[in-house]
Amino acid sequence: MVERSKLRVETLAVHAGDPRPRIEGAAVPPIFQSTVYETLGEAENYHTQIYPRLNNLPNHLAVGGKIAALEKAEQALPTSSGMAAISTALLSVLEGGGHLLVADQLYGGTHMLVTSYLDRFGMSYDFINPENPTEWREKIRGDTRAIYVETITNPLCRVIDLSAVVNFAREHNLVSMIDATFTTPILYRPIESGFDIALHSATKYMNGHSDLVAGAIVGSEKRLAPISLLLNELGGTLDPHACFMLHRGLRTLPLRMERHCQNALALAAFLEEHSSVTRVNYPGLKSHPEHERADQLFNGGSHGGFGGMLSFELKGGTSAACQVLENLELPTPGPSLGGVETLVTRPATTSHAGLSPEERARCGISDGLIRVSVGIEAVEDLMTDFGAAIDAAR
Ligand code: PLP
Repeated sequence: MVERSKLRVETLAVHAGDPRPRIEGAAVPPIFQSTVYETLGEAENYHTQIYPRLNNLPNHLAVGGKIAALEKAEQALPTSSGMAAISTALLSVLEGGGHLLVADQLYGGTHMLVTSYLDRFGMSYDFINPENPTEWREKIRGDTRAIYVETITNPLCRVIDLSAVVNFAREHNLVSMIDATFTTPILYRPIESGFDIALHSATKYMNGHSDLVAGAIVGSEKRLAPISLLLNELGGTLDPHACFMLHRGLRTLPLRMERHCQNALALAAFLEEHSSVTRVNYPGLKSHPEHERADQLFNGGSHGGFGGMLSFELKGGTSAACQVLENLELPTPGPSLGGVETLVTRPATTSHAGLSPEERARCGISDGLIRVSVGIEAVEDLMTDFGAAIDAAR
C-alpha cells in the first residue's frame, strides 16, 4: 500500500492536490469558469462564500494543495502574480507601521516596492548586507517585524546563509520571509528549513512555459490566515483558468528543474573556459564564492542542483554584451525567466532598470552583465550558439 506521507516529489507533482473523488470522473480537474455559485445563505461569513476572488474554487484548492505538498507546508495560496504574493504578504506582516530588514540584493520589482512604497503606507525598512549578521543586529529596532531575503539573488546569483537568517529571526522574534522563485521546492523547501513564509513568482519555473502570470504564498495555516483575508480584500487572487494552467505546469516541475540545473552547470563551465569571458556567476561553479553553501542548501538529496540561472560579463564590456545578445540565435532576448526556452537579458535595461545607476553599481550590476535563464534545450546546441555569438562579438 502507498504511504501518502512518503510519496516522492515526482509523484506529488503529478498527483497531489487533484480532487478526490474526481469531478465527474475527469482525470484532469475541469476549469470552474463560473463566477457565480448557488447559495441558500448557508455561508458562515463573507470569506466562506464561494466566489473566485475568495480563493476557494476547486481550481484554487487543487493548485494550492499541489504547491503545499511540494513545499511540505500546511498551506499555499495561489496569487495573481509573484508581486501580488510579495506585496500582500509584506503589507500584512508590516501592518500598522512595522519595520523590515531586507537583503540589499533584491528582484527589481521588490526593490521598487520596498524603496518607493513602504514609507507611503507608514512602514519602514533598512537594507542589510546578507554577509554581515553583526549589521543585522545593529539595524534591528523595537518595531522590526520581519527579515526578507531571496534564495538565490537576481542577477548575480549570490547565496545567503539561509540557516543564519532562520536562527536570527527566531532569536529576535521576527517573521522570516523568503522569495524562493529561483530554487522552487525541488531544490529548497523554506518552510521545512524553518522560514515562516515562502513567496514565489509562479510565472517562472513553477509554471515553466512562459505563458502565465501567477504567484504563491506558502506557510502554516496559522501564519497565512491574516494574509489570506487581506488577499481576499486586495483582490490579488489567481483566475481559475490560470490555476488550471499552473496546475498542469507543476506536474513536470521536477523533470524540468533537473534539466535546467544540468544545462546551466554545463553552460556555466563552458563560459568560464571562454577566453573572452571575464566572470561567470553560477553557484554550481567551484569559483563561486558561496559554492559550498549552495551545495549544502540546494544540492542534497535526490533532486539537488544549483538552479537554471547564471550571469556573465565579457572583456568587451557593454558593447560586446549588446553584440552577443544580437548574435545569439536560439535564446529569446527577454526579461523573464524559468521557461523551457533559454532567455537572455541585460538586467541594467530590464529587470533592474528601475534602480538608479548608483544603486546598480552598489549592488555590483554592471551595464555589460548578461543574465541567462538556461532552458531545457540540448545543451550542446546552446554551447555552440553562445560560443559563436561571443566569438563574433570580439
Ligand atoms: N521574484 C523574483 C525573484 C522574480 O524574478 C520576479 C519576476 O521576475 C518576481 C518575484 C515577480 O514575479 P511576477 O512577475 O510574477 O509578479
